[in-house]
Amino acid sequence: MNTPPADAAARKGEPALVCYKVENLPFVDMPAIEQARQQLEKTDEVIVAPRDASTFKVPAGHFFRINSVEGSQVGDLNLWNANNLNERFYSGKTRQLHASHVSTGDRLWSSIPQLRPLATITHDTLDWYGWDEDGGGVHDVIGTRCDPYTNHNLSGANYHHCCHSNLCRALADYLGKPIGEIEHHVHDVMNVFMCTGFTLDTHQYFMKASPVRPGDYIEFLAEVDLLGALSACPGGNCGSSHSDDATPCYPLKVEVFKPKQPINGWSGTKPSGYDRSHGR
Ligand SMILES: [Zn+2]
Repeated sequence: MNTPPADAAARKGEPALVCYKVENLPFVDMPAIEQARQQLEKTDEVIVAPRDASTFKVPAGHFFRINSVEGSQVGDLNLWNANNLNERFYSGKTRQLHASHVSTGDRLWSSIPQLRPLATITHDTLDWYGWDEDGGGVHDVIGTRCDPYTNHNLSGANYHHCCHSNLCRALADYLGKPIGEIEHHVHDVMNVFMCTGFTLDTHQYFMKASPVRPGDYIEFLAEVDLLGALSACPGGNCGSSHSDDATPCYPLKVEVFKPKQPINGWSGTKPSGYDRSHGR
């Protein structure tokens, strides 16, 4: 290791500034959303089998919930604009704009060039968790998704039910195409119900058993027509191992709801207004 310079303490003592002023983002009228979600009519339900994934569609202006059923289980969520799969959830920008873990009022942003909210989180029964003593929180947008390539690098084994593979199979079935033609659409996820953080000493990604229990749910408003895919992670509650069949796993339930009254003043989200000339 290199010798620190004489002014190392001063250099390291600069103040930390939050990069983005979230209050300058497009306004979201949470009281109007809260009023609309009081009267919902269920229009669809999908059960995601353990160590597998399913797709679901949510029209713009509808709500969807991811529910814990039967046992403590985390889910890996992909979202696309249902009319353009090239516009998809952008976990990196979502974490920059909001935080490493998201909850009610936070929004799931889409990829460049649209870069707009695909969904807004409208209720989270785990919002009481906050941050624990290890620096952990729930619903992270820092982990990617368990995948068979990393697993093979680490263990030498072929395991076919990592979330990446589950999402690939579900999307391939939805599109009616071979996995090789659609794998590039599968992207970094929102880790629903997963409890994670970075260790305080070495800043390594850690997981711990999820606090989610049957009856818990997280709810979203679809800001555009959405195609979703949800994998019930082979890690189960992610309290021990993942990328194997060792851990008990449970299904997850996705429900789609139509508000009985439209959300007052709501008109969905528009792509970023940047002119895309990039200085040329
Ligand atoms: Zn997983």
